[in-house]
Amino acid sequence: MSNSESYTANDFMRKADLHLHTNKSDGFYSVEEVIKLAKEAGLDIISITDHDTIDGVKEAIDIGKFYGVEIIPGLEISSDFLDTEVHILAYFFDIDSKELDEYLNFFRAERYKRAVRIINKLNSIGQSISIEDVLEVAGKSTIGRPHIAKAMVNKGLVSNYYEAFNKYIGNGCVAYEKKVHLSPQSACKIINDAGGLSFIAHPNNLSDEIIKMLIDSGIDGIETIHPSNLPNKTEYFRGIVNEYFLLECGGSDFHGGERNDLSNLGKYYVSGSKVDAMRNFLIRNRA
Ligand code: AMP
Ligand code: ZN
Ligand code: FE
Ligand code: FE
Repeated sequence: MSNSESYTANDFMRKADLHLHTNKSDGFYSVEEVIKLAKEAGLDIISITDHDTIDGVKEAIDIGKFYGVEIIPGLEISSDFLDTEVHILAYFFDIDSKELDEYLNFFRAERYKRAVRIINKLNSIGQSISIEDVLEVAGKSTIGRPHIAKAMVNKGLVSNYYEAFNKYIGNGCVAYEKKVHLSPQSACKIINDAGGLSFIAHPNNLSDEIIKMLIDSGIDGIETIHPSNLPNKTEYFRGIVNEYFLLECGGSDFHGGERNDLSNLGKYYVSGSKVDAMRNFLIRNRA
């Protein structure tokens, strides 16, 4: 379907939440549940952007047709720059790219090794928990600290999910371990090579210097709408987008479960015209 065929004035009214997680990574709901919840929240277009996996995207495409929700291929990759985590969102990549699949397999394998390192640290300070306890929670999903936190609750090591982060596995805490090092530039290259567009996720967490560095190194856009945005920040990020002729994405970063963020669905979105702009950009620049 060419862009001109798909484009109607109505697209300006369409609501797109381009940042959603499922239980393919550290979200609570299944792909189908997320699509159903998105539909109920009045969303027309969504992107499932799980950490280091596109399994949910592949599943979502057919389910989306059933519920009448358009699915944009999406993904969230964690990179780091000078000890700051920089999350990069990807859209419109080739879901059958072998190279992308190989990178994602590598990142997931590294996440597993990191989970083992966190468990070893927890054991060394007397917390009795095994990688099997974590796998019981994570199943086949991309392993993240939220799974470790839940396993710690299940084992009675902490009284709640947040205590696990605050006391043990939160950034800089006693059992914290970094993910594998990946520069933001490499993350963008992996995405671009797979035919996709790269965006700075939740930029509210980043300094202006880092945002400028990402723009200089060829990021395609910025997530201007996100629940973590402080007042006026959306307009501020839109200013940067306009100044540097970038693309714009936005969404709820919905995870469900412990986050208790169901009410964010339908509240954090960009218009369908932003998605059209992405398609137009790809047609103009990458055809
Ligand atoms: P990971 O990708 O394994 O580093 O896990 C990151 C995820 O852990 C984030 O997306 C949050 O969901 C969760 N997280 C990180 N820090 C905290 C914290 N201090 N309190 C609660 N959840 C956290
Ligand atoms: Zn997450
Ligand atoms: Fe993120
Ligand atoms: Fe996210």
